[in-house]
Amino acid sequence: HAKIGGKNRNRFYDPAMSRNLMRRREIEAELRAAIQRDELAIFFQPIVDLDSGRIRTFEALVRWFHPEKGELMPDEFIPVAEDTGLIVTLGNWITAQAARTAVHWPDDVTLAVNLSPLQIKAPGAALGILSALRDAGLPPSRLELEVTESLFLDDNHATENFINELAAAGVHFALDDFGTGYSSLGYIDRFPFSKIKVDRSFVSGPKVGRKSEAIIRAVAELGAQLGMDIVAEGLETIEQVATVRAAGCSMGQGYYFSRAVPDYIAATLLAHERQPLAARRAG
Ligand code: C2E
Ligand code: MG
Ligand code: MG
Ligand code: MG
Repeated sequence: HAKIGGKNRNRFYDPAMSRNLMRRREIEAELRAAIQRDELAIFFQPIVDLDSGRIRTFEALVRWFHPEKGELMPDEFIPVAEDTGLIVTLGNWITAQAARTAVHWPDDVTLAVNLSPLQIKAPGAALGILSALRDAGLPPSRLELEVTESLFLDDNHATENFINELAAAGVHFALDDFGTGYSSLGYIDRFPFSKIKVDRSFVSGPKVGRKSEAIIRAVAELGAQLGMDIVAEGLETIEQVATVRAAGCSMGQGYYFSRAVPDYIAATLLAHERQPLAARRAG
């Protein structure tokens, strides 16, 4: 019975599907106004040097505090923003906002911002980012743009120009979620990535084991040869930290260190780790 039901599920009215569709339509309709209504906030998650334990970067991660729906995560509304083209406006706002926060951090702490392929292909994209940095007073060398391999699916000049233009201005690039796409070494060769972020599916989850460890080790070795930093994403336990560190990753990110936090908590984390130990004990 279950099999027949499963097979026919989509042939008739499906309440769950229409609920999803309805929610998607609502999100689509409300997202534009959400920016103006100040319902969006940028949170920051630390990326830590695994040798010193120090914060090297904060990744900007957008949150939507919806008046009725509560806290919405980017996986729910970023795809909608991408489908509607709103990602360009939203992305510009995120970069500008995050840069205004990052300018208050110590000079050696960088800001990482995620970019959707559509943002990069928009006309004037590179100039837009540089002028957002200028307005905020953040040097380009303190920005790192995280892109995924999906960016390279349609191999066009806009992408190449964007990356080369910003790299020439001093902006850094990180290849995000590495291992989930084609994991082609061609992109690493062709584009000036300074960092590879190994996807969290290699660190935690049901399929993690000796094989995923060997893959992390191989990527870390490649990174060392090419002078790139290798970041392990999704570190939740001290055992996972030890494993990826032994495998050669130079940096880590995950709930073990911290979740994404509001700007004032990010500032507190930085202030705290920069206090001398004696002051910390006394305080
Ligand atoms: P991402 O760029 O790979 O970001 C890392 C995601 O993993 C974040 O989810 C983060 O909260 C989550 N994460 C970090 N550590 C752990 C951990 O230890 N365990 C687990 N289970 N998760 C962890 P988040 O904030 O929900 O963002 C999801 C995705 O949405 C991001 O993946 C990124 O692709 C996209 N995104 C977020 N903010 C933006 C943005 O401002 N612009 C664009 N274009 N995309 C964004
Ligand atoms: Mg990212
Ligand atoms: Mg990632
Ligand atoms: Mg991701």
